Amino acid sequence: MAPYTVHTSVLFDPKKKQWLEDMSLTVDPVTGCITRYYRRTEDLGASVPEGDVDLRGKYVLPGFVDAHTHIFLHSYAERASLNQKRDESPTERIIRAVNHCRTALLSGFTTYRSAPPSLSSWTAFPY
Ligand SMILES: [Zn+2]
Repeated sequence: MAPYTVHTSVLFDPKKKQWLEDMSLTVDPVTGCITRYYRRTEDLGASVPEGDVDLRGKYVLPGFVDAHTHIFLHSYAERASLNQKRDESPTERIIRAVNHCRTALLSGFTTYRSAPPSLSSWTAFPY
């Protein structure tokens, strides 16, 4: 796999806490790491090089972090957490967690920390 470059009009740099214009990011597809980012000095024209990602006209942000979420639970307004943990099957709760992670990922969250109850608390469940 060859590295590819993402070209954007506006990039948020969290270290500088600034919006940077006309930026490009080169990504190593094996590691997923950004290996280079730079301000474009030349006009790319109507299309970007083959294999690159054209996000010009869009904003690019780093992945969001949710440091406190309960991915195995649904709304407490629907059912108290204690009742969910007591009455809902691990299978149902895992499916719910997968759906929560999918929604979060599509919303820009790339890092989740699931607060208790987590899977480890399920060891008390009889199967
Ligand atoms: Zn909490």
